[in-house]
Amino acid sequence: MTDQFDYMKLLEDAKKELKAPAKEEERFKLPDVESFIEGKSTILRNFNTIADMIAREPEHLLGHLVKDVGAPGFIDDSGRLVLKARIIQEDLQKKVNAYFETYVLCSECGRPDTHLIKDSRTLILVCDACGGRRPVLVKKGVKHEEKSQKLKAGDVIEVTVQDISHRGDGMVRQGPYVIFVPGTAKGDRVKIRVEYVSNSNYVQTKVVKE
Ligand SMILES: [Zn+2]
Repeated sequence: MTDQFDYMKLLEDAKKELKAPAKEEERFKLPDVESFIEGKSTILRNFNTIADMIAREPEHLLGHLVKDVGAPGFIDDSGRLVLKARIIQEDLQKKVNAYFETYVLCSECGRPDTHLIKDSRTLILVCDACGGRRPVLVKKGVKHEEKSQKLKAGDVIEVTVQDISHRGDGMVRQGPYVIFVPGTAKGDRVKIRVEYVSNSNYVQTKVVKE
């Protein structure tokens, strides 16, 4: 027993000499994305768990992912995220990682114990661990110059397709909305009928044939 005791003591002393990097052990690991493709959709099974672990509103993470993917999505009754696009798990992981790095991770101490505050027009990430602050730098969207018009199902409007979504649908950003117009190409000027407006302002439409 003495030998073992000596050995343990030796180990203790050696550890003291080494100055063990405590920070490393505490490093937060973002949970792995568990997703699968079902038909034309992608299901992120542990969506709510991820939002919970990084202490962010599921709706905020949803909004970011939907914008990133360029397709509508929603949170189902079991707390899973359903995205109306086919995204392989690896890509979805990258998108969740990007969100984590932008909206959660403190760039000074590398910890996720942060919260967001709004300072006039800038979103600021405040670290609860070290007190560090940094602005959240998000890719600039299209300016909301077109007068905001509240959209609801049944509305018929005219739009110019600005972009093509991941799924291949035409896409228009207008005011707070991202409007999807199937069967159109970039630059098309079309009359559309609103079919559905989601809580996150994603709008499904159909072209009105004249
Ligand atoms: Zn920090």
